[in-house]
Amino acid sequence: MVNSPHIGHFFVTALQQRCSVVTNPQNGETVIIDGGGDFERISAWIDDGIGQPDFEINSYDGERKVVALINTHAHFDHSGHIPFFKEHYGLEWWLHSDDNYLQTLAKKSGERWGFTLPEPAVAENSWEHGETHTFAEMDFEIIHTPGHTLGGCSLYLRVDDGPDHLFAGDTLFQGSIGRTDLPHSGGDMDLLLRMIKERLFPLDDSTIVHPGHGPMTTIGEEKSHNPFLNSDHRGRGAWL
Ligand SMILES: [Zn+2]
Ligand SMILES: [Zn+2]
Repeated sequence: MVNSPHIGHFFVTALQQRCSVVTNPQNGETVIIDGGGDFERISAWIDDGIGQPDFEINSYDGERKVVALINTHAHFDHSGHIPFFKEHYGLEWWLHSDDNYLQTLAKKSGERWGFTLPEPAVAENSWEHGETHTFAEMDFEIIHTPGHTLGGCSLYLRVDDGPDHLFAGDTLFQGSIGRTDLPHSGGDMDLLLRMIKERLFPLDDSTIVHPGHGPMTTIGEEKSHNPFLNSDHRGRGAWL
């Protein structure tokens, strides 16, 4: 458990992917979630305090030490700069192994969108649904939420003195859900909707959701208003 973790958001690549840098203010230890791009900008801020995140929650002025690289899933905008982060910080990388094949395609997929990326990172470590992993003395529960990708996970950080945080990758967005039509990803809309209902909606309504793209939201807000998941709306497929 942790009190008032500092969370910095960096929107990276032309796809504006949310890379979250989470610091435990008790010891400065830091976790990078979805290091998909802007390695130089993010590491300059972490290492030397140069520049600033696009958005910050809580404050922390001390030094940071990166101790873990973890990912929600393997799409290139979330994983494209992991090789740089791994080498610079000398760390292994965590990704659900059901995304390992998708991850091998990161460089090629990026090229299709006009991005130049290094050879894809290989994850040394995987996890399973329901496990809790402690990084930087913060507890992250792994909630496997396939449907956008086979290995897609939502990373749930419990906080002592305020609302919990859910790093949802591209599973759940404000008013929307992840795409299920992306190549080689194992997309499945029925499964995605079921995972959100069964595995994310039981979380406390106050839980702050940090999606992979777009504005933050809360579990309570999406439970009542997300048109893909709310039976008051004929929302399923409405935007497709
Ligand atoms: Zn994705
Ligand atoms: Zn994404």
